[in-house]
Amino acid sequence: MNYLQIPASSGSGRYCEFDLSAFCKAFRLDRQAVSATLKTLEQEDLLAYLEQPFLPARVQLLAGRRTLTAFETDHPGLKPAIEVLLRTYEGVVDRPVVIYERQLAALLKKDSGKVEEDLIRLHGARVIEYTPIKREPLIYFLRDRVTAEDLYIDPIAYRKRKEQYAARIGKMLEYLRLPGGCRSRFLAAYFGDEKAGDCGICDNCLRRKKSKAAGTTGYTV
Ligand SMILES: [Zn+2]
Repeated sequence: MNYLQIPASSGSGRYCEFDLSAFCKAFRLDRQAVSATLKTLEQEDLLAYLEQPFLPARVQLLAGRRTLTAFETDHPGLKPAIEVLLRTYEGVVDRPVVIYERQLAALLKKDSGKVEEDLIRLHGARVIEYTPIKREPLIYFLRDRVTAEDLYIDPIAYRKRKEQYAARIGKMLEYLRLPGGCRSRFLAAYFGDEKAGDCGICDNCLRRKKSKAAGTTGYTV
């Protein structure tokens, strides 16, 4: 919270860009430990860590009618972009609305790069508030910042998750080390299907076939 500069009793509903590598470097923390901590905080419904988010671009009109008319007179080159924005996304006059640069590009008969330039210029002039597409990792806060003393992580649920995780890893290791039985049948049994037959194509099944063909007795079920 300090790193992201979120004051006490606020933060809920906020998206913050979060560069895990930079964070680990700044505090000399182990990357895997930080990842695991984020996961725990996610499971406690405190936040959501979005590694590859996709937040579409948004626009909200800031300028009033009179300012807008004056601005259009002074910047005729940006007038088409303003007009198309107002015509295509009616809501922009009173709230941030999701916009699609490609749609604007088609309507304005410009390429997307040029449309983005227009939007940035309008943003710079405080005519609109423009939030570009976001693809950087984000943390989305589900609750307000609490003091360290008030941060409660349910130890029973935490231990249960840990045990379940250990059990899953145990099963995975068992699968990897499976000495001779069919891997596909092992998976089917794991998911509750005890009646599945040998697949005939996994490495263990193939090895068995091969050794049978060679006249030796392979693994028998
Ligand atoms: Zn098999």
